[in-house]
Amino acid sequence: QSHPYLYKLLVVCAVSGGGFLGFSNSRPFHQTAYSDAHHGDIKKKKVVVLGTGWAGTSFLKNLKDPAYDVQVVSPRNYFAFTPLLPSVTNGTVEARSIVEPIRNIVRKKKFNVQFKEAECYRIDPQNKRVYCRSIQDNNLVGSEEFTVEYDYLVIAMGARSNTFNTPGVVEHAHFLKEIEDAQRIRRTVIDCFERASLPTISEEERKRILHFVVVGGGPTGVEFAAELHDFVIDDLAKLYPTLKDYVKITLLEAADHILNMFDKRITVFAEEKFRRDGIDLKTGSMVTKVNDKEISTKERTTGQNVSIPYGMVVWSTGIGTRPVIMDFMKQIGQTNRRVLATDEWLRVEKCDSIYALGDCATINQRRVMEDIAAIFSKADKNNTGRLKVEDFKEVINDICERYPQVEIYLKKKQLKNFVDLLKNSQGDDELDIDKFKAALSEVDLQTKNLPATAQVAAQQGTYLADCFNRIEICEKYPEGPLRFRGTGRHRFHPFRYKHLGQFAPLGGEQAAAQLPGDWVSIGHSSQWLWYSVYASKQVSWRTRMLVVSDWGRRFIFGRDSSRI
Ligand code: FAD
Repeated sequence: QSHPYLYKLLVVCAVSGGGFLGFSNSRPFHQTAYSDAHHGDIKKKKVVVLGTGWAGTSFLKNLKDPAYDVQVVSPRNYFAFTPLLPSVTNGTVEARSIVEPIRNIVRKKKFNVQFKEAECYRIDPQNKRVYCRSIQDNNLVGSEEFTVEYDYLVIAMGARSNTFNTPGVVEHAHFLKEIEDAQRIRRTVIDCFERASLPTISEEERKRILHFVVVGGGPTGVEFAAELHDFVIDDLAKLYPTLKDYVKITLLEAADHILNMFDKRITVFAEEKFRRDGIDLKTGSMVTKVNDKEISTKERTTGQNVSIPYGMVVWSTGIGTRPVIMDFMKQIGQTNRRVLATDEWLRVEKCDSIYALGDCATINQRRVMEDIAAIFSKADKNNTGRLKVEDFKEVINDICERYPQVEIYLKKKQLKNFVDLLKNSQGDDELDIDKFKAALSEVDLQTKNLPATAQVAAQQGTYLADCFNRIEICEKYPEGPLRFRGTGRHRFHPFRYKHLGQFAPLGGEQAAAQLPGDWVSIGHSSQWLWYSVYASKQVSWRTRMLVVSDWGRRFIFGRDSSRI
């Protein structure tokens, strides 16, 4: 299933170029020289960035124009490399190896950037200001509150874990979203083993304590289950030999299969591997409640309610909206949406000078349909509802340029030759616009959003920074598509996501990789590709060295099982 030569090539590209998954500082636009001299006399525009995750940090790293005064507000004074969080849960890498202090990044900027460790609790679009409060705990009693004014606001606050309001999840389950979550999980796993070793613990209780349940068969849940299995087999079984037969790992997934977003071959391989490894995979199993010792599920096929005793539950069922974003959505009339809706230039709809990127936002697909209708209306000057085949093709090209997702759909659904198909079925030189629109709505554009991944967030950050860097030049020489509500061109090209592949580590030094063009490869060589890509994607040489040395340490000495 694998392509050994391809790997060697990709590994070399990944390590040398570092741009394989698009996390890097690749510049889609031509280079521009920036100098403070041009902006010395002009009042600088205030840019406020909320969040220091993938989107916020990528924006900050790529912003080069000194025409801005930048304030960054985030409750974390670091950037965390989330794809390696599951490896922190078992000590394959240490937490500090995957974080980069944001002040290290700020320090290198050649213009004024200030960082405030605080959370934003309210956005006030009318008065162009955000309300923030400090979050430091320990002995620093009391919360400091302050406001920050902006000319441009960049919202990159990510998302929170989604519990689907399942009772008991917040109180009893672990999430795997932040560095602290991963550290807590690591401690709890060791706690479970130490507690199970105590002489007073009964057989039944021992079994319960050493039952680890993972809820959610997406990439994070699957990777965590695989990491935990490796930790138990490679390290804990040797340190706690009398306990190894009591250990059980269960993965619960409500759908029929795990890794649904991957190619079917990967799903099948992963499911078979998990079964071979002894991970109890329960699909069609919906969690209804969690209490301190049991997790309750409803089995779809039998309709039965089942109670499963557990020692630790890790909840990884996707993401939900942060309260501050929900409040902001209410203010701007986006109440019936899951995340903030933006246009293709990442501008929050109906908000002047506010941009949203990463997991907290999505490009509004409903609007895409309305815009497509407007593009057709403009082309159909005589309002006949029909267009000549050539004009029709031109309109579709225009739509594809503006909306990459439409292009992807047309290709994916094999509607690439749609015009020809329509033409044959109608046997005519003119085509019916409504028929095309009806077919497009069947394609279900509205539910298909960009995936909530680091790859998307980082590319959006880079894109937006490049737009900010070139605002002046693009004002004079707009380079975007023709405006259909008004004349001339848009200043910038719309954001275009470039999918560069995704990985699913499956444990036992094996991984699955799905590369562009639906190339699939699974096995040990994919794991080496994973190592090289993730080493190359680290934000600094410091974290790169730390991560690689952690991997080396783990190969030589095994993982550290101390509970600290
Ligand atoms: P985040 O990276 O979550 O950053 C949000 C930022 O906002 C943080 O700095 C946070 O502190 C800050 N913030 C939160 N609240 C506030 C507030 N009130 N005010 C100000 N700031 C605030 N994606 C991949 O592409 N590949 C992978 O392999 C992968 N693996 C993953 C593994 C795990 C365990 C997890 C949890 C995610 C993984 N992802 C992966 C998804 C990826 O991490 C997210 O899609 C990505 O982090 C989204 O970036 P973001 O900038 O939108 O949000």
